[in-house]
Parts: sequence; structure tokens; C-alpha cells
Amino acid sequence: MKTERRGDGGWADVMASEPYMVGPGSEWRSELYRVAVDQFTRAADLLGLEPEVRARLLEPRRALVVNFPVRRDSGEVEIFTGYRVQHTLTMGPMKGGVRYGPGVSMGECAALAMWMTLKCSLLGLPFGGAKGGVRCDPNRLSVAELERLTRRYASEIFPIIGPDSDIPAPDMATGEREMAWFMDTYSQQVGHPVPEIVTGKPLVLGGTEGRDVATGLGVVFVLEDVLRSLRRPVEGLRVVVQGLGNVGAVVVRELAARGARIVGVSDVSGGVVDPDGLDVDAVFTWVAEHDFLRGFPRGEHVDRTAVLEASCDVLVPAAVEHQITAENVEAIDCELVVEAANGPTTPEADLVLARRGIDVVPDVLANAGGVTVSYFEWVQDQQKYSWNGEEIVARLRLQLQEALARVVEARARHGVDWRTAAQSVAIERVAEASRLRTIYP
Ligand code: NAD
Repeated sequence: MKTERRGDGGWADVMASEPYMVGPGSEWRSELYRVAVDQFTRAADLLGLEPEVRARLLEPRRALVVNFPVRRDSGEVEIFTGYRVQHTLTMGPMKGGVRYGPGVSMGECAALAMWMTLKCSLLGLPFGGAKGGVRCDPNRLSVAELERLTRRYASEIFPIIGPDSDIPAPDMATGEREMAWFMDTYSQQVGHPVPEIVTGKPLVLGGTEGRDVATGLGVVFVLEDVLRSLRRPVEGLRVVVQGLGNVGAVVVRELAARGARIVGVSDVSGGVVDPDGLDVDAVFTWVAEHDFLRGFPRGEHVDRTAVLEASCDVLVPAAVEHQITAENVEAIDCELVVEAANGPTTPEADLVLARRGIDVVPDVLANAGGVTVSYFEWVQDQQKYSWNGEEIVARLRLQLQEALARVVEARARHGVDWRTAAQSVAIERVAEASRLRTIYP
């Protein structure tokens, strides 16, 4: 049976002769979507995935673009563009973060939504993937402006979200505060409190113990287990972490507490490197007092991307996508990359790292702790019953260990890299569900 995708079946000639026409899939065109499709295709080829399921998973099922006005503190009105992209409706409600940044686009959200589907599937969570965001520079907005922006964005995407359909969460430049505004806005619209509409909320509003540190802690748990299989201790391990936000800061703290030597860190303002190990407390005190790392009085100063080239055992990109690329991959000087950020390594860089014998523990596994504890939060909200912190950490560890075991098994079975193994496990589960549900009507 042939599966047709829009644009095929005779349209190719028309498309070629009419340059203004939009080609198939071009709604999502972006560098990150290219990366997501490339990775997906590699795993789908490995599985021999049938064209019908492949075509259904390659593009998101739904996307909403909203343009909305926000009154600035000056009294002026500014129009912002926001997105919510839902990748698959097959596995349960959809789940995915909301990010604020100047580069947010529909294509970026599409890639991140696809990775959310794969992450949830790999972890065995009953969710499909989604992602959303608003294109803005959050550093330029006051707290009052951010609140108005968040509330208006929440109202704009109201028609397609819900506690049983699509549950947002924090991502870059959003956190508990934004989730509280989000939850309140949704609740005002329906007329009663709906804590389960978002995860990553403050504890008092129905949040969970451990969500704030879950992603970073999950990265550390996965790294610990990988090191254990290599019989390498965390103690004395030389680590570089790019990004000191929700995720990176926790990775730095947790690894330093376990005796690792943090030899390089960076944030958007720049990086510092010290082969003898940085004083982590001094770094955090400086950032708390000055907002950014820039000007930190110790170590060698490097730019925010050059920190990736510092000599170390384990490199943890925990900032933004597209960091390890064809341009800098030959200069990467580590034994293992653990992707705390989403999409930090391009497919071209992946090939070079593989050739150089540097393993990459992929984002869909390494940073899945966040969505796992988000799932715990959603379950607790549904049950109106809270679990304690120890229970959450123990369940998180177990869930990540089981996912890691599935990836290790797939790696051995197929003889492939970590990423392709992880994505193949994830795709198999979604594909099976798609086949069983067939196509409506
Ligand atoms: P955040 O906004 O809290 O922090 C981002 C950090 O990266 C900041 O320290 C910022 O200064 C730094 N940064 C930004 N641009 C940079 C650049 N070009 N070079 C170096 N540093 C830069 O974001 P976060 O929530 O920590 O998310 C970081 C990454 O982790 C993102 O890729 C995100 O999608 C991913 N992630 C986050 C979660 C979560 O629960 N927050 C879950 C899974 C994955």
C-alpha cells in the first residue's frame, strides 16, 4: 500500500514551476526540525518502519499559531506570536513545556514536540508529545509584563489544552511562577481550580515535591548508571556544564556534591574554565548577586560556546540546541557527552563523535527526569493525594533505570549508537499503538 504525503502524487511538477507554493512539511521548516527528522529517520530505517506509520509520526498532528497584544508598562501595545504544537494524539494526553525566547518558532516547537513523544514513549509514560512557546526576549520584560503575556498566551491556546488533552509545563525561561499564572488563568476560564492543567507548579498550588530539580537530578541518575556500567566512579570525574538554569545548575550542584570536579561552566553571558576545579558555591553566589556569570573573578574566561571545548571526562550541554556542530566537533575534548538540553548535537556532529569514539547519551533519555516527575505531579493532582519526596525520587530513579535498560538492550541487539537505540525503543512503542488503533474512521 502506498502512503501519500501532501505534495506527492503529481504535485511535484506544479511545485517546481510555482516557486511561491508551499512544499510538503514546510510549515515546520527549521534547523531543529531537520535534526529531529534526521534522527527519527535513522531509527525508523533501523526498525524498517512501514511508510504508513512513518508518515504519521514525521509531522505533528496539530499546531496553533496565535498573535496577541500585550500592554507594556509604558502603556504601549506590543504584538507577540505564540505557538502550541501537538505531535501525537495516539498515546494519551499530550505533554510538553512552554518556552520564551527570541528564536521560538513553529518549526522549533515541532521538533521539540516530536522529541517529547519519543521521551514519553521511552519512559513508558501515557502521554504524547507537545511543545509551545512565545517569541519574545524575556530579559526585556518586567514581571508584570511577563504575567500579562503568560495569561494572554494561556487564554489564546485554551481551546486546545486541558488536563485530559494537553498539559503544559516549564521549559526555557519559564518556571513555577509562570505555571501558577497559567493554572490560575485556565481555572478562571472554567470557573473552578484545575491544578492538573499544568505541571511544574508551586507546591501549594498542587505541585509536587522534587519537580524543580527533577530534570537535573535525572541527568545525574542516568550518568551515574552509565558510569557504573563502565566501572567509573563519579568521584574525581572532570565535568563541563554549559548552561546554569533550571537544569544545568542542578547538574552542577548534584555532581559537585558527589565529588565530581566541575572544570568548566557557562551561561548566556560567557564561561569560565579551571582544570583544578571551580568553587561551585562561589559560582552560584556570584550568579545570584550579578544575575550572570560574566565577570566571575576566578578561572580562565572563555565564550559561552568555547566552554564546550574545555578538556573534561564528561561534557553536559544544558543550555540550548545546536551547540555541538560540524564547526566545533573536532575540538570537543571529552569521553562522554550527556545531553541535558534538547537537541544540542547536530547529526553531522553525531557522526564525527561516533568516529572519534565519543558516546552521546541522548536528550530523550538523559533529560527525561523532568517529564517523568511531571507525570507524577499530574497523577497526584488527579488522585488529590500527594506523595512524599523520597517516594518521588525513588520512583524517578527506577523509571529512568528501566528506560536505560531498554536502551542498553536495544544498543546490544542492533549494534547502534545510544541515540538511535533510544529512539528505536521509543518509536516501536508508538508505532505499535498506532497500528492497534488503526485510522479513524
Ligand atoms: P533555563 O532558561 O532555566 O536556563 C538556560 C541556561 O542556559 C541559562 O543559564 C542561560 O543563561 C544559558 N544559556 C542560554 N543561551 C545560552 C547559550 N547560547 N550558550 C550558553 N548558555 C546559554 O532553561 P532550562 O529549563 O534549564 O533548560 C535548558 C535546556 O534543558 C533546554 O534545552 C530545555 O529544553 C531542556 N530541558 C528542560 C527541562 C526543564 O524541566 N526545565 C526538561 C527537559 C529538557
